[in-house]
Amino acid sequence: MQQPLLISSLLRHAERHHPEQQIVSRRVEGDIHRYTFRDMAGRVRQLANALNVLGIHHGDRVATLAWNGYRHMELYYAVSGSGAVLHTLNPRLHPDQVVWIADHAEDEVLFFDLTFLPLIEAIAPRVKTIKAFVALTDRSRMPASSAVPNLLCYEDLLDRQPDHFDWPTFDENTASSLCYTSGTTGHPKGALYSHRSTMLHTYAVALPDAMNVSARDVILPVVPMFHVNAWGLPYAACMTGARLVFPGPFLDGKNLHELFEAEGVTMSAGVPTVWQGLLAHVEANNLKFSTMRRTVIGGSACPPAMMATFQDRYDVAVLHAWGMTEISPLGTVCTLKPQQQGLPAAQRLAIQAKQGRAVYGVDLKIVDDEGRELPHDGKAAGELMVRGPWIISQYFKGDGGQVLVDGWFPTGDVATIDPEGFMQITDRSKDVIKSGGEWIGSIDLENIAMAHPAVAMAACIAAPHPKWDERPLLVVVKKPGAQVSRTDLISFYEGRIAKWWTPDDVVFVDAIPLGATGKMQKNKLREQFREHRLPGI
Ligand code: AMP
Repeated sequence: MQQPLLISSLLRHAERHHPEQQIVSRRVEGDIHRYTFRDMAGRVRQLANALNVLGIHHGDRVATLAWNGYRHMELYYAVSGSGAVLHTLNPRLHPDQVVWIADHAEDEVLFFDLTFLPLIEAIAPRVKTIKAFVALTDRSRMPASSAVPNLLCYEDLLDRQPDHFDWPTFDENTASSLCYTSGTTGHPKGALYSHRSTMLHTYAVALPDAMNVSARDVILPVVPMFHVNAWGLPYAACMTGARLVFPGPFLDGKNLHELFEAEGVTMSAGVPTVWQGLLAHVEANNLKFSTMRRTVIGGSACPPAMMATFQDRYDVAVLHAWGMTEISPLGTVCTLKPQQQGLPAAQRLAIQAKQGRAVYGVDLKIVDDEGRELPHDGKAAGELMVRGPWIISQYFKGDGGQVLVDGWFPTGDVATIDPEGFMQITDRSKDVIKSGGEWIGSIDLENIAMAHPAVAMAACIAAPHPKWDERPLLVVVKKPGAQVSRTDLISFYEGRIAKWWTPDDVVFVDAIPLGATGKMQKNKLREQFREHRLPGI
């Protein structure tokens, strides 16, 4: 009972109890790589020895810029297992931001996939603390780049090391990994996870009413390992003995679908924008999913229209989930209670549109502007507050000062909670539309627009209004070749929503800006339409 919860124990478990289970990776090189948990464990020990040689000590930060693949998985285990801190950098960020974050984290070594060589060349002369850059490849594919000082080859490093290594035992509260939030304002802030928080989170992720991960699953995490640890799936796979299939950089609908079918994938996870590409490909080519039976969708609200397509047309169950970087990330998952399973399809879908029930370990409440707790009646909306053993109590290096309010973490999300405990995000607090002093939930308005057959993507933002302060403005990207007018869309809301929530105007754009984690950047849209004049004003 006194044994600490350490990430190295997951690797030991996978090697001893699921040695033959496979990890399949589509590599940056384009080919498919396969090996077993046993093979992986040996290489992770070699890597731990290599980290020693590179002068990495307990608590040092080791950065990665990498896709989902077996070498990234090896880093997850070798870095944290040996007592150092895995710092996953997000390659979709601007190079200036990557430099700022690497300096702030004081990264010592950076491991990168060859795809990111141009980014490495841009940042290498500027970062202050990184001593070596390791290309995740073998000698034959090493770039001859001279712009990168101290460029090393991953496979060379491993080849020189023995595959025995005694995993150290230390306090379970030791830091294991670090991920920065991509805040819309100010500098990014780091969320530092511990071995204990990661292990407890992993148990929760695998639970049946959470992601329901088992040894019988073949999991393809589309959600990147460079952001919030791919929602914990790389850990849950070792805990349960599930098979992993990594897509590398090939995240378009065609490549994903081929991999789902070729590898018999049963479960996947990702943000709504990824599934849009996949569904468009599957629909256009009249394909189906032979083995995939469920997918976790989170990161931003999953439109019910997308859920209905997955479930009714392709027999793929959608698990709507909510989380954030600061909470490791899993907070809620939407699985129905027994009495809800027999409800008519439309009612079930209305429940599934909610972000779901608290996973054990995460406690939820909603509060008003004065911090008073609001009722769980499914109507009152307030700021969502969370607490639990995998939720940060402060940002890395204490940035931003005290963050907890009476022990609760303020999420910045606005939500309702119904009597059955189902939480629904109505907005980001920064994105709410305040019309005549009342809040209008932009996510509801977007979900309705997304149900229109001509709409590919929709964002609802506040536009200035002299009488009501703000009124909803709908920004829409049409599906290729589709025809729809402003009045068509406005009348589409009739009967679907309270009349006064109906958007006052619709504008059509070619694209809606997405951030580094696939979320719509409404702050950019607000900036773009700052001068927009609503009709009749
Ligand atoms: P990040 O820290 O980048 O993972 O972003 C966390 C934020 O994403 C949350 O605070 C929410 O605003 C948003 N988010 C995550 N999952 C969902 C979801 N299922 N529905 C709506 N918003 C979500």
